[in-house]
Amino acid sequence: MNSQVQMPPERHFIDRIGWLRAAVLGANDGIVSTASLIAGVASAGVSSNEVLLAGTAGLVAGAMSMAAGEYVSVSSQSDSETADLARESEELHTQPKFEQRELADIYVKRGLDPDLAQKVAAQMMAKDALKAHARDELGISAASEPHPIQAALSSATSFTVGAALPLAAVVFSPQSWIAPNTTVISVLALGILGGLSASTGGAPVVRAVVRVMFWGAAAMAATAAVGALFGTNVA
Ligand SMILES: [Zn+2]
Repeated sequence: MNSQVQMPPERHFIDRIGWLRAAVLGANDGIVSTASLIAGVASAGVSSNEVLLAGTAGLVAGAMSMAAGEYVSVSSQSDSETADLARESEELHTQPKFEQRELADIYVKRGLDPDLAQKVAAQMMAKDALKAHARDELGISAASEPHPIQAALSSATSFTVGAALPLAAVVFSPQSWIAPNTTVISVLALGILGGLSASTGGAPVVRAVVRVMFWGAAAMAATAAVGALFGTNVA
């Protein structure tokens, strides 16, 4: 009877994948873009203060861009869900019989026999027709309900937390060590973050760690190379 209630919470990875993925992505972005920017500017041979200024500007620009991007994307998801629900609600009023058959057909496709599917559909619609159609036909549930402002703030925050790490490496490094220190600390942090998120999400850890460290290091190496090139040319 209560088997669902007693299922260990560790089984429900999918519940926390959404916000966790967003937070880790934001922090990853913050680390990679800021550390790459710092590696590039530092490799061009500018002073610590200028590196810090560039990195801070990068942090602010990145956090704003994350917030705006997330706000726009979640808002448009929200708009289309609202429109879907309005259309569904309208159809439930104008053609309830058709809608009930439609719901029963969905349950048949999911494995119920037609008689039972009819009964389930009828009872679901008696309780809350729109909710049943939203969940089983449109795949919209309260858990997936979009929150644009919240999404924007959490993206910007996680980006800022990620970006603060390479900036701290700049503050605490002597001039000639800025690029190597920032790179090493950032790549290690990417690995730890990737490992934590993979194990929380139930995914293979080593593969995630190697992948995120490789691409992070590649991004930093690329901007460092550009910075060194420009630095030599300017000097
Ligand atoms: Zn429907």
